[in-house]
Amino acid sequence: MQLLMMGPPGAGKGTQAVKLVEKFNIPQISTGDMFRAAVKAGTELGLKAKACMESGSLVPDEVTIGIVRERLAKDDCAGGFILDGFPRTVAQADALANILSDLGKEISCVLNISVPAQYLIERAVGRRICKGCGATYHIKYNPPKGEACDNCGGELYQRADDNEATLRQRLMAYEESTRPLIDYYKASGVYHEIDGTQSIEQVTEELIRVLATVQE
Ligand SMILES: [Zn+2]
Repeated sequence: MQLLMMGPPGAGKGTQAVKLVEKFNIPQISTGDMFRAAVKAGTELGLKAKACMESGSLVPDEVTIGIVRERLAKDDCAGGFILDGFPRTVAQADALANILSDLGKEISCVLNISVPAQYLIERAVGRRICKGCGATYHIKYNPPKGEACDNCGGELYQRADDNEATLRQRLMAYEESTRPLIDYYKASGVYHEIDGTQSIEQVTEELIRVLATVQE
């Protein structure tokens, strides 16, 4: 099964991907990991990507696409994969379709974990994290018993980017940039939207239910 995971930052995409990796025994491939691996391995594309990142310029599409192509051709992807963070544009989606076609494959399913911006903002703004053990709380939905961490008594703090203005801007940018991609995959009939406001367990169940309807 060749899966694409989409969803705004904070929708729980990473958590869900891990569950699907366990359930279906296919690797999760994120662009960040892929880049780091290519740079570390010192491949030609990895070196090109490194040079761009070091000079602060955007990694050109042909380099990104080349790295994706190399990664998806590896043995561990033979039974499928979960791709996360790629494609980001319609041009990249076309390139991905070509890569898969060369491998005799196609996208089985696009899973978009959809959560309204207002909901994500409320969730993030109320988040508190323990300096000691990393436990997370929410002042409304999962409050600590006192001022400090229930587990270890550590001090709780709020992440700097968990503020409303920054978040709203990020979410708007995300929505704008992914809209064409959503339309693209809707048109090809592989798009599924999952209600990400449900509990983690419910979202996992729904993902598995959707995937049960997908042909190999
Ligand atoms: Zn703690």
